[in-house]
This record gives sequence, structure tokens and C-alpha cells, in this order.
Amino acid sequence: MKFSEMKYISPSEEVFSKSATEITNRLNSAVTFEDADRAFRDMSALCSAFDTAYSLCMVRHEINTLDKYYDEENEKNDEILPLIEERRQEFYRALATGKFRDSFTEKYGELLIKNIEINMLTFSPEIIPDLQEENHLVNEYTKLLASAQIEFDGKLNTIPQMMAEKQRPDDKMRRLAWEADGKFYSDNGDRLDSIYHQLVKLRTDMAKKLGFENYVGLGYARMGRNCYTPEDIGRFREAVIKYVVPLADSLYRDQAKRLGVSYPLSFADASLSFRSGNPAPKGTPEEILDHARKMYREMSDATGEFIDFLYDNELLDVLCRHGKGVGGFCTSFTDYRAPFIFANFNGTADDVETMTHEAGHAYAAYVARDVFPTEYRDPTLDACEIHSMSMEFFAWPWAEGFFREDTEKFKYSHLAGAIKFIPYGTMVDHFQHSVFENPDMSPEERHDEWRRLLGIYMPWMALDDSLPFYGEGKGWQRQSHIYQRPFYYIDYCLAQTVSLEFFALMQKDRAEAFRRYNLLVSFGGSKGFTDLVKDAGMDDPFGDALKEAVSAAQSWLKTVNAEQF
Ligand SMILES: [Zn+2]
Repeated sequence: MKFSEMKYISPSEEVFSKSATEITNRLNSAVTFEDADRAFRDMSALCSAFDTAYSLCMVRHEINTLDKYYDEENEKNDEILPLIEERRQEFYRALATGKFRDSFTEKYGELLIKNIEINMLTFSPEIIPDLQEENHLVNEYTKLLASAQIEFDGKLNTIPQMMAEKQRPDDKMRRLAWEADGKFYSDNGDRLDSIYHQLVKLRTDMAKKLGFENYVGLGYARMGRNCYTPEDIGRFREAVIKYVVPLADSLYRDQAKRLGVSYPLSFADASLSFRSGNPAPKGTPEEILDHARKMYREMSDATGEFIDFLYDNELLDVLCRHGKGVGGFCTSFTDYRAPFIFANFNGTADDVETMTHEAGHAYAAYVARDVFPTEYRDPTLDACEIHSMSMEFFAWPWAEGFFREDTEKFKYSHLAGAIKFIPYGTMVDHFQHSVFENPDMSPEERHDEWRRLLGIYMPWMALDDSLPFYGEGKGWQRQSHIYQRPFYYIDYCLAQTVSLEFFALMQKDRAEAFRRYNLLVSFGGSKGFTDLVKDAGMDDPFGDALKEAVSAAQSWLKTVNAEQF
């Protein structure tokens, strides 16, 4: 069915709650497993209808934020969401603690109950006021950043606009852009410190109320982690420092030489990869879309079927328009068995990334569209990002159709970017462990910790940079995940590692790499992260995987003379 024909039925909290309570009662009073299982299926259908309506409304609102109807509906849906969640929780608690627990496990596997139990650890009615306060603080942070009007080069800029200015090839202008950007954060430093300080205290309090020693355990549970621990992450960190940091360091040394700037690099110099600017796609947005369709049709029958389904049913909206929401994402309309891609093409390599990264997510959602129980459709985010980040590499043979004369430059900067990202991302996670394991740190001590970690994970950065904010070790405050979604960041690093493993295998046997990728995607969320990776024939990132993946990337990068760019 086409997106425009999908019917939006405005969800009602009363109607949902009445049905949910009735179904939960049926589960509780079920005499046979068949009755209990029927209640489970009914609950699944009820939630699926709500989720579909919620996503349809959200997407239509984002497509045109000026549409009053969807604007109001969207606000209403956000308001009733916590109440819906509470009803859902009630049902799942009844399932996990009821007499048919073992029968459910036998029929659907252990992961269902395991995930329910992890989720139950994250909530008790006692913390509802804390959750509301947390939302309030997170919104304050988001609004503060969104309100930025940074004066630079004769005009006022938002933070995303400054990101482009901070990559200007002209050394003087680029430095001035970094100074202007840093000044905004410095001017708001007290508020940024205060918001985070309150968030750390609040999250720690919530954790203690729920019986955790500190927020680390609660943070992991909120991310749905079901198969690895902070100790595993500790081993991953060691491997990053041992194998990835040296390669990233050599890439930055090459970069400094190429640009003719000093090493260690200033923040402003580290952000410029090539004097000639970043690789950009050639052609109109329509040409990018046409080439993406051709690419997926040629890649395999399954990806061809997927892309035709997406295009023929209006399941992507990627062009910029007045009144359209910013950013990009992939979501699903469960009842219509359809993924949807939202983006804003802006003429940069991000446009191509939408058609590889977001389409990777959408392809996985399409493949898993009929998986039951619905809980097994999406894995945890660490695995979801493998779907997307690996697809970026599987798309390489078609890069020329997007980038023409910039193709080699694009490939080099894509792969080098993956290597450069892992130390940074791991540092973001390490920082949060330090913070939540030591919740009494002062704001000053947190900045000191960030500076200390910079020395370990990013030794190519000049720590005596006189830049406001960044040079003072406060740069973590611009990383929104730290405020908004604690402990999310390592998911990208774990996924990037597995995507590099796929890259390494592609160099030897592309068909086998693609077969394993499809196997992984076909599992949906029916397994935890480590099992998904292992059962697809890949190594989990907690052992030696990083070492081998990095060496394959290094070999490829050596074949390119980056001086020419
Ligand atoms: Zn993603």
C-alpha cells in the first residue's frame, strides 16, 4: 500500500488502556497455554496498531510541521505514550511472572522473557517523577543547542550550519569558525554544566531506587543489553587503544603532512581531511535516487525487491522543503509491514549515506517484517547499526555512479572515517563510565577526565590548543548522546567493528560476506548481539576481531595515495 493511502487512526489512551487491561486479565486467568498465547497475540496486535498510528503521525508531522492536524496529534500521542508504556509493562510483567512463563519460553525461546525481565528492572512507579524531570532536563539541553545563533562571517548560524563552516579549507576562516562555535558553548558553559550535573544526580538516584549500585547497571538495562557486561566493554576499550588508536594516529599524521600543518593537530586542523574539500556526490537528487535504485536492483534479487517496494509505495521522503523537520531516520509502519526513510538531501556525501546507511536499516526491517513475536523483529541498537554500517560498505562497487571523479577520495575518507571514529566513540563511552561510577565528581573534575581521556584515545590532538571550550577539555558537551541517551554511543563502535569485519571479508570473498550479512539480517532481533554476530559467522568485537578488521582496513588504505586529493 502506498504511504499516502495508509489510514491514520488517532489513538485513544482510554480505548487502549481498556483493551490492554482486558487482555492482561485474560492472560492472568487463562486456564490453558492456548488461551494465554491468544492473549499474547492480541496484545501484540493492540501494540502494533498503536505503534503504526504513532509512527504514521510522527512521519506526517515531520514531513510537514506546518500541518496543524498532525502537529496536534503528534503532541497528544507523545503525551499518552508513557501511559501506554505502563499498560504494556503490566502485561509483560504478568507474562514473565505468570504460570505459563515456561510454556512461553518453550514456544518463543528464552530471549523473550529475558528481555522482559531486563526491561522490568528499568521501571517502578516510584521513579515516574524522576523520569519526568529527566525529560525536562534533556529538553532544556536540546532547546539550548537548537536556540544557537552563532555569528560568523557576517551571518547568524545554527549549530549544524557551523559544522560545515568548521570544515572550511581556508585555515584562518576555519580557525575563526571554531572560535565562534566554541564561544557559544563557553558563554553557556554554566548552564551546560548545571544541566549535566543535575542529570547525573537524578540518574544515580533513579538507579539506587531501582536497586542498582550506580547508574551504569541501569544505563545498560535501559539500552536493553542482554549479552555483554561493562567488563566486556573494558576489553573492547583495550583493543581499541592497542589496535585502532595507532592506525588512526598514522592517518592523522598523514593528514597533517598533506595539509602542511603541525602535529599534534589543533581541533580546527583535525577537522579538515583534504585541502580540496570533502568528496561530494555529483548530479541532482533525482539522479542520486535513480542510481540508488539501480544499485539495489543489481546488488541482489532481495535488495531489488526491497527497493522497488520502497519506491513504488512512496516509502521515502528525502528532499528538502520549507516546513519539513530536520535530520534523517528510518522507521516502520508495523501493520503495513513497511519501513520508511526520512531525510533532507543537502548536496553532501550525507545524501548518499541516506541511501546506504538508512536504507540498510530499512532493508533489515523489510526482511524481518513478518517475524513473530514482533519483539523479535528489531535487535538492540548495536546490531541495528551493523545492518546500516555494513550496507555502506556493500554499496562501494556502485560509488562511482554517485561520486564520479571523487570516487577514490570518497572511499578513502569513508574507510579512514570509520577508523577515526572508533577511538572517539569509545572515549565517549569511557567518559560516561567514569562519570557514573564517580557520581560525586564536580563539573571541573569531569572536564579534567575528558582531557585525560583525550590523551589516551586521541593522542593526535594538541591539548594546549588555546581554543575556547574545546581547548579547555569541555568538547564532550556538544555530544548530545551524553545528555540524551547515556551509554548509546558504544553501540556505534561495536557495530562499526563488525562492519569492518564485513569489509575485510568482502576483500577476499564478497559473495560469502553478503551471504553472512543476509543471514544476520534474517535473524531480526531473535537473538542477542553476540549470538547474532556469531551465528552469522562473524566474530564478536570483544575478542581479536578488531585486530584483524583493522589490519584489512590498513592494507586497503595503503593502496591509495591520499596526497593526490
Ligand atoms: Zn543508524
